Order: sequence, then C-alpha cells, then structure tokens
Amino acid sequence: MTQPGKTPSILDLFPEETREAADLLKQAVPQMMRHDIPPTPLHFALWYSYCRGQDQELNRRLDKLVKDFDSVPPESASKLFREHIIRGELEEARAGQQQVIELVDEIEGGVVSSVAGSKAYQQSLIAGLEALREPVVDELPNVLNDLQLSTQAMQDQQEKFLYRLQAAQSEIQHLRDQLERAHMAATLDGLTQVFNRSSFNRLLHQAVERGPQGLALLMMDIDHFKNFNDQYGHPLGDRVLQHVGQLLRELLPPGGLAARYGGEEFSVILLNCPDMRTAHEFAEQLRHKLQALRVKVRSTDKVLNTITASFGIAMAQADDTPESLLVRADDALYQAKRNGRNQVQPALDTPQLSA
Ligand code: GH3
Ligand code: MG
Ligand code: MG
Repeated sequence: MTQPGKTPSILDLFPEETREAADLLKQAVPQMMRHDIPPTPLHFALWYSYCRGQDQELNRRLDKLVKDFDSVPPESASKLFREHIIRGELEEARAGQQQVIELVDEIEGGVVSSVAGSKAYQQSLIAGLEALREPVVDELPNVLNDLQLSTQAMQDQQEKFLYRLQAAQSEIQHLRDQLERAHMAATLDGLTQVFNRSSFNRLLHQAVERGPQGLALLMMDIDHFKNFNDQYGHPLGDRVLQHVGQLLRELLPPGGLAARYGGEEFSVILLNCPDMRTAHEFAEQLRHKLQALRVKVRSTDKVLNTITASFGIAMAQADDTPESLLVRADDALYQAKRNGRNQVQPALDTPQLSA
C-alpha cells in the first residue's frame, strides 16, 4: 500500500514482479481479445486486475457485463475503472492519468515480448514437427499439425491485437500532450509564464525540507504600480508584468525558481546560492534590468515612466519553516519600501553582505 506522505501511485496497486505481471498479462490479453475489448489503458488496467483476481467484486461485475453484453460498454468500463482501480486514492486525475500511461507503456512491452514468445514457440513446434515426420506413431504428425495450426491462429490474433495497440500509441501521445498542457496551465501563471502561487508554496516547502544550505528567498514588488495602472491603463500594466516574467526567466541562475506571488509581487527561490552577497547581486541585476526597461505606447512610440521595484532577501536558517523564511523576506521588502523603494534590502537577522 502507499506510504504516508508519498503521492499515491496507481502502480502501488499492481505490486507484482515483472515475471508475475507478464504471466497475468498473458492471461489478460486473450480475455480482452475474446470479448473484443479495445486495447486502451483503462481496459488494460481492468483486465489485468481481473486476472489478478484480488478484487472479487470487480470480477463479478466484469463477468456480468460480459455475460449481458458479450463485451464491456465504454461507460461501464469507465465506472468500473473509477470505482475499482482509482478508488479515490489518487488525488489528482492528472497523476492518475500519467500513471496509467506509464502502465500501458510497460504493458505494451509485455505484449511485444508475448508475441515474440509465441513466435519462438511456433518455431520450435515446426522444428519438432519436422523431426517427427518419420511416423513413429501414425497419428502423431496429425496431432502436431493441429497444434501448429492452432498456434498459428493464436499468433495471427496476437499480431492483429498488437497492430491495434500500436495504433493506440498515437492516442496515447495525444493524451500525453494534453496532460502536458494541463500540467503547464496548473503550475504556471497565465500572464507571466512563471510559476503560480500554489506552485510557489509547494516549491518553497520542498526547498525548506531539503535544508537551509544554499537556500535564499527573494520577494520583489513593483513600485507604485497602482499609479502606473491609473495613468496608462490596466492592459499596459499587464504588458509590464509580462516583461517582468520574461526578465525573471531570462536572468534566473541554475537552481532558481521564479513565481508570481500575487498581483505585482514576484518571488524567487535560489537553491544553489552560497551566501547573501550572491543573492544580493542577483537582485541588483534584476533591479537594474527592470529599471532599464523602456515601456512604450505602441501607436506613438512614446516612452512612459520608468518601472522600478523593491526587493527583500532572506537566507534560510537552520530552524526555518517556509513561513518564517517568507516573513523575513517580506519584512525586508517592506523595509526597502520604507527606505524609499527601488532598492534591495537583506533581511535584518542575516549578516549584511557577508560571505
Ligand atoms: P507600492 O510601491 O507600495 O508597492 O505601491 P503599489 O501601487 O504598487 O502597491 P499597491 O499594492 O497599492 O498596488 C498594487 C497594484 O497592482 C494594484 C493593482 O491595480 C495592480 N495589479 C495587481 N495585479 C495586477 C494585474 O494583474 N494587472 C495589472 N495591470 N495590475 C495589477
Ligand atoms: Mg507595488
Ligand atoms: Mg504589492
């Protein structure tokens, strides 16, 4: 079963070793072929579970469907999948879908080797048949002939199935692309294309959990942005925010993560930052680049007011929680505002610019 604190994985529901899984698969595939079940991720998971036989209720329901319909209608399959495979253990549908895709990838490998296996079996039968052409027992060649024919039929059926499975690969690729887009939409801020607030919270937690070594947090807030909006309009304000996002993405060092914390406030997590001096230099670089941005009205080319921002920085300390680190960086930011804006302020409880 899943461990506490670990993201539940659908693979945890299928803990078999590869060999055992392959045996189950060999049972599942003929079942699916017999009832003309399409080789989709969902059906694989259902029939694989059916062959494991550990969920009697699932087996009973599948048996009944096959008895009543001689197949499994798509809506019944989805219902069974939700109730018996996902079972509410997977919090995020995305994670669940991704895991099903992984499962199918593995299963496809299994089917390929199962087809290869049946080919090898057939070859050995042919070889055996040749050797036994001399009629030791009159009936034996006939028996072997029959056996070969039925093996051939099985192989044809498997190859047909494999062909359909390969066709399903393009569907899987499409599903992957969709997942990728959904994932991006869920983690990035739509306007600025840096991480959104909830991603930031998660990333900061992870960073603090790894320990304070090399961890710095920058909070940045655009100065007098309300005035800018009031003067030039919200759409132009949005363009400024987009520029800030772009600037952050361009300037981030390796191990840096940028997020839009809220309206015109951004945050940067630095994971490989040796000291406050380095974090300070990075923030200064950002500040200068931002100040150098020239916002123009497209129609007239008129250059508008300069954009500036204020920064607060905190280096993580041994007993920090995400919240305490955030509070120090935020306090430093507000100190920068009070000191006159357009400047970088290290948190007070860290030595100023010392290595
Ligand atoms: P300060 O220097 O003290 O930070 O002043 P400020 O005006 O930037 O601060 P305040 O928090 O009062 O105003 C933030 C403004 O940011 C208000 C709001 O109109 C603007 N803002 C927030 N989100 C967006 C957005 O998505 N687009 C645009 N264009 N403006 C936004
Ligand atoms: Mg502001
Ligand atoms: Mg603000």
